[in-house]
Amino acid sequence: MNCKKCGKENLSGDELAIYRKLVNRGATEFLCIDCLAEFFKCDKSEIEARIKYYRDSGECTLFV
Ligand SMILES: [Zn+2]
Repeated sequence: MNCKKCGKENLSGDELAIYRKLVNRGATEFLCIDCLAEFFKCDKSEIEARIKYYRDSGECTLFV
């Protein structure tokens, strides 16, 4: 799976999962963390913090 904006290849499972979580649950196209941060006009570190949050919470089945 590649980033639909910058074309970055081999997006990680985290990148796919956070995109589904924050943007579109049924997404078939994805953004990498960098482009997602730009999309939300926030810092990349905030996206990463959100990934960590969902991962640590253990409640989100998108993060396995
Ligand atoms: Zn990208």
